[in-house]
Amino acid sequence: MNITIVCRACQSKFAFKRPLPACPNCNNGWLDAEYELTHPVQNGHLAQRGQEWRQLLDQRGASLWRYRELLPLHHDKNIVSLGEGWTPLLKAHNLSLMLGHPNIYIKDERQGPTGSFKDRQAAIAISAMKEAGIKEAVVASTGNVAIAYSAYSARAGIKLWVFVTSSVPAEKMREVALYGSEVIKVAGTYDEAKRVAAEFAASKNLFLDRGIKGIAAKEAMKTLAFEVAEQLGSIAAGQNPAMLNGSQHPWRTPDWYLQAVSGGMGPVGVMKGFAELKRLGLVPKLPKLACFQTSGCAPMARSFHQGLATAVNVDEPRTDITTLATGAPGEAYEVLRELILQHGGTIDAITDVAAFNALHLVAKMDGISVEPATAVTFAGLFKLIREGKILPHETVVINCSGHTFPVEKHIIGEHYTRDMSLPDTGELAKANRSREEGLLTALEELDSRVQRIVLVEDNLDAARLIRRILQAQGNFLIDEAHDGQSGLRLIRESRPNLVILDLMMPELDGFGVVEAMKADPTLKETPIIVITAKELTSDEKERLDGKIKALLQKGSFMDSDLLNDIQKALP
Ligand SMILES: *Cc1c(COP(=O)(O)O)cnc(C)c1O
Ligand SMILES: [Zn+2]
Repeated sequence: MNITIVCRACQSKFAFKRPLPACPNCNNGWLDAEYELTHPVQNGHLAQRGQEWRQLLDQRGASLWRYRELLPLHHDKNIVSLGEGWTPLLKAHNLSLMLGHPNIYIKDERQGPTGSFKDRQAAIAISAMKEAGIKEAVVASTGNVAIAYSAYSARAGIKLWVFVTSSVPAEKMREVALYGSEVIKVAGTYDEAKRVAAEFAASKNLFLDRGIKGIAAKEAMKTLAFEVAEQLGSIAAGQNPAMLNGSQHPWRTPDWYLQAVSGGMGPVGVMKGFAELKRLGLVPKLPKLACFQTSGCAPMARSFHQGLATAVNVDEPRTDITTLATGAPGEAYEVLRELILQHGGTIDAITDVAAFNALHLVAKMDGISVEPATAVTFAGLFKLIREGKILPHETVVINCSGHTFPVEKHIIGEHYTRDMSLPDTGELAKANRSREEGLLTALEELDSRVQRIVLVEDNLDAARLIRRILQAQGNFLIDEAHDGQSGLRLIRESRPNLVILDLMMPELDGFGVVEAMKADPTLKETPIIVITAKELTSDEKERLDGKIKALLQKGSFMDSDLLNDIQKALP
């Protein structure tokens, strides 16, 4: 393997030996790695080398080290591993249905060793430190880097000094301390914590991790692109994306890569990864890039929308989402902007409130609990879909990280349980009832569902989606039918408080059900909400006029829209 280090500012090139603090020629900080794929073939066309390299992967395990030839480490013996990389690429089933976009995928970085995509960075950076013989290092972090680096440096026998701001959630800081790192809490912004960390490292002559400017971080993030390309290739070939047979079918680039950004290292590295694969003839293109920041700290989003070539800093970030609190993005903004101008995409701002709503929604709908920084990305997805920037057929990959426990209380409040008291034996004796009877009554009281809804929908996926929305919010008893005839029968039998109805169904369609209900004196007052995939003609609209409470278009309503309509329709 031949790696050359290139300085972004003066374009000087150096052979890669060990982590450099800056360009030896001009002292600029931003360095990139360039690879010559000399293994396994010395010569030959790049595309041929790409194919041969890919053949090697089938024999390798499910870890980011399977891409060994394109990673900046000289010897395997220096690898410090906790099982990083090759995280699942999950389809967002219910969310995709709700949004009407079938190809939304979640790159589930929550399943990394410490629960965020920073595990990749830690694995590469700490391995490189070990290779360079570094025994003590300094890092500044908005939270997740601190946790990941602490775990890996514990394993590598490296003492770590971690500088965080005091707004990092206590749960995260404790985890850092648990791994044996020194935690220095800086009362100030993240940019100030970074400055203090650099001064501390210089004064004690310790190695300072340089984040996005250094080699390790970008090279680590690259592996996200490699994995996604391999996994999407499997999916397109109709295979399980967890299978390690990447040489068997073409790799794919998603149309979009989405991530919330602070320093911007994730997307910069991911785009570098796709660029390398393209150069090797393994994928046809780079994705469009959508980056998101919180409105309280959005130097990149604001500068981007103002068309500025360099970012205007935010001196006092105001956001509860500390992971994203970089106010001074520096060169990263320029690099990201160039990438977006060339390949398409955007940098947008999202409010904290929108992010927290998205967090709750993704957990309820698809069983995926993400940390607030990732929730910013989901809120961003909803925004771009609403604005028509992400089209229904496009493939979207979302970088998904994190634990929710620092914020769960904030989202669901204190009253999320149903309290159950077990019958007291003395009372039972008085009431002359058995313990079993008392328990049954108590269990009965647990389920206080009162509103009965009949759902008539022939598409089983759509039925599952609507059922899920109702289950997750509200005291509804849901009965389901999958065609108009049996729907009508069910409505007659169960006398629901509300009917949710599809229009296009075999035999008796939704219009027929509405008309039958209106002709029946015992059902004509029962409120009906229609959910349809069909664009209604003016004739059809007239047929429904005055007979239904609400009309929702499939794939273009959010759960809260449906719940609001239900609330309004119920007596
Ligand atoms: C670090 C982090 C970010 C920001 O990443 P950058 O690519 O460095 O901007 C976003 N989300 C999560 C969960 C993170 O841990
Ligand atoms: Zn230089």
